Amino acid sequence: MLSKEILKQLIDIVGQENAITDKVDLLTYSYDSTADVPTETPDVVLAPANTAQVSEIVKIAAAHKIPIYTRGSGTNLSGGTIPLKKGIVLSMRKMNQIKQVDAENLVAIVEPGVVIQDLNNAVAPHGLIYPPDPGTVATATMGGSVAENSGGLRGLKYGVTKHYVMGMEVVLSNGDIVRVGGKTVKNVTGYDLAMLFTGSEGTLAIITEITVKLMPAPQFKKSFLAIFKTLEDAGNTVSQIVENKVIPATLEIMDNATIRTVENFAKVGLPVEAAALLLIEVDGLEEVVKRDAEVVKQVVIKNNGELKVAETEDERATLWAARRAALPALASLNNTTVLEDATVPRSQVTAMLVACQELGKKYNLTIGTFGHAGDGNLHPTILCDSKNADEMSRVHKAVDELFEIAVNMGGTLSGEHGIGMAKMKYLELEFGPTGVDLLRRVKEALDPDYILNPGKMVPLKGE
Ligand SMILES: Cc1cc2nc3c(=O)[nH]c(=O)nc-3n(C[C@H](O)[C@H](O)[C@H](O)COP(=O)(O)OP(=O)(O)OC[C@H]3O[C@@H](n4cnc5c(N)ncnc54)[C@H](O)[C@@H]3O)c2cc1C
Repeated sequence: MLSKEILKQLIDIVGQENAITDKVDLLTYSYDSTADVPTETPDVVLAPANTAQVSEIVKIAAAHKIPIYTRGSGTNLSGGTIPLKKGIVLSMRKMNQIKQVDAENLVAIVEPGVVIQDLNNAVAPHGLIYPPDPGTVATATMGGSVAENSGGLRGLKYGVTKHYVMGMEVVLSNGDIVRVGGKTVKNVTGYDLAMLFTGSEGTLAIITEITVKLMPAPQFKKSFLAIFKTLEDAGNTVSQIVENKVIPATLEIMDNATIRTVENFAKVGLPVEAAALLLIEVDGLEEVVKRDAEVVKQVVIKNNGELKVAETEDERATLWAARRAALPALASLNNTTVLEDATVPRSQVTAMLVACQELGKKYNLTIGTFGHAGDGNLHPTILCDSKNADEMSRVHKAVDELFEIAVNMGGTLSGEHGIGMAKMKYLELEFGPTGVDLLRRVKEALDPDYILNPGKMVPLKGE
């Protein structure tokens, strides 16, 4: 609990209208989009208007060792913004200016509270795109997505957020303000601190400005729906498309449980008997799109698939709406949606899909799997009821096993959703004790008193 005096000092920095202390309002900051994790209310929510205010807040927090939980839109799926140890929630929603679109250098400079789609809307008139596109592109903030190193549907061809971060301004845990990186494509001066802060989930510094790379918008696009009778045929198609030197912008998979649920939810005409669907989009110059489309067709046919081409913009939009409906559709089936993002090398996608189905049978759970098959980033989604203790114990066992399987396949705990508090206990599986200790040493070098997002990403020694 903060003393009245400290609370007043903090509120004076942002002004009463940009602070929340009412208990009921604080409740809405006690959770984020993550299921099955503990919740906690903060002592206060502060919405600073600029970097100087962030720095002043952090200086007071540092002096009194008050935890700070930085929050964008709270859409993360790893408990990243939950104020576990109370203290301050720093809402970045007011720092939402697009400071510059520099079409000459293919660069934009934004404040962290800018919504990703708003940046895309601002660069579109220049014939440019900002490619990282998490499913929450219309709500998530640039700060949150850089701090999570978000991926999305176009990751296979265009990469993820870290491939677009060129520089940033951050406030360190003692309140100091630092600029790292910048507008140059090449920059090898010193340690790559911009990359260190990218994906650091609010645990190393508070991001107050971001410089990102933009790309020319692709001229042509073609989307396909490929329908398969077996998971193996779908999985083999994924690796063979890439083996044949075609890198689709998007290469997404849905298993039968997901297909049925999406069709029931969105009524878009998906084939409910199919074992799996691939949603594929190739983009680029017209000739390249034609050539790539032909290769996709041949590979799908070779793997016993049926190919449907989206002939019109409406058909294309329907296909992608179906994909974006996957999570809400699955989530509508039960009270609790445990969404994982264990990720494996592309060659292991089929094995991972089969493993997810087997886990469902073994633990008597409903698991729908969909995701970014092209980059091995699958989303096994367990539909359960957090009030059913027996079921939740089976869910936890299945998730433990899932991560072991992914790591043993040469994969990783998280392809895009981050560690937060949800996956902290699995870190040693991937890093071993020495690796976890190295993460801790990085954390302690930058935030020795653990005031930045404590309880996330890096466990305290012995915790
Ligand atoms: C339906 C749905 C679909 C999704 N699809 C995808 C997807 O396709 N790909 C994907 O990668 N993710 C996806 N996500 C997860 C989530 O939307 C992304 O991680 C998103 O980028 C988070 O942005 P946010 O503004 O909501 O951040 P928040 O959830 O508010 O914060 C995320 C993390 O960043 C930290 N943070 C926020 N702002 C700052 C800052 N300025 N400085 C330092 N740290 C900060 C927070 O402390 C927290 O640890 C999805 C989530 C949902 C609910």
